[in-house]
Amino acid sequence: MDTNTPDLDRAIGFTIPDKNARGRLVRLGPVIEEILAAHAYPPVIERLLGEALALTALLGSTLKDAGGQLTMQAQTQNGIVDLMVCDFKGGELRGYVQFDADKLGEGPDEPSLFALFGNGFLGITFDQATTGERYQGIVPLDGATLSEAAENYFFQSEQIPSLVRLNAGRRDDGAMVASGLFLQHLPEGEEGRDRIHTRLDHPEWQHVETLAATMGVDELGDPGIPLENLVWRLYNEEREVRTLSAVSLSRGCRCDAEYIGQVLAKFPESEREAMAENGVIGVDCAFCAKTFPVALESLKA
Ligand SMILES: [Zn+2]
Repeated sequence: MDTNTPDLDRAIGFTIPDKNARGRLVRLGPVIEEILAAHAYPPVIERLLGEALALTALLGSTLKDAGGQLTMQAQTQNGIVDLMVCDFKGGELRGYVQFDADKLGEGPDEPSLFALFGNGFLGITFDQATTGERYQGIVPLDGATLSEAAENYFFQSEQIPSLVRLNAGRRDDGAMVASGLFLQHLPEGEEGRDRIHTRLDHPEWQHVETLAATMGVDELGDPGIPLENLVWRLYNEEREVRTLSAVSLSRGCRCDAEYIGQVLAKFPESEREAMAENGVIGVDCAFCAKTFPVALESLKA
């Protein structure tokens, strides 16, 4: 890769076979800008959504199934944020945050995860398109940061030790960059031992984790450093590091007029009429912060 081209809106994967570890790196730029452009979020919410989208891209790009979808939802109990939803499908990302602007204004400049979500929950759903399989895990939003909450998620729902680093913010030139690193220890062998024991039995995981912890936010979020170079910086002393094919990321929503029409057409006519005002149903897309007007007439078969 030409090092003069900023490395943005891309995720890469790698494995370290000797250490039973796999990892992912992502860095988002224009995609985040495009998502944020639909809203007018204050900086705290921008950074939160940026980190959440980096996490969504990290996890979504692990889906083997090209048509698979990953949805991440964080819900609050008495927090500043009511709801945060992000999803990934075929390299397309989208996301939004519903929050209480008054509560946010009363809080500290850098609210903790707890201040943002109270006793919230983090749910992650993996949908595999080809098999129709769905896996969903929901855990309390525990930890000081979204990174810690994600680590807790993997430890609680899969008993897999993981390391998650997320960061989002505006650079000196004002451009938004969100970046993330995700590492997982893999259970050994096909049969595998009891997964819960991996952390205790495997010093190699600690080695991988310790090296990853040396990566600074500056490096992770610097568009001038290709992601492959970051993997090299961390793990060049390993006997073998395999890099997996990269996934390029874009902003995408599935709220097009045709799709909305198809969904509405499934409702009974009487219900459609009840939803309409002056013969028009206004359908909101929270991701795009837009209302799509659909004329009742257009839905008649
Ligand atoms: Zn939309």
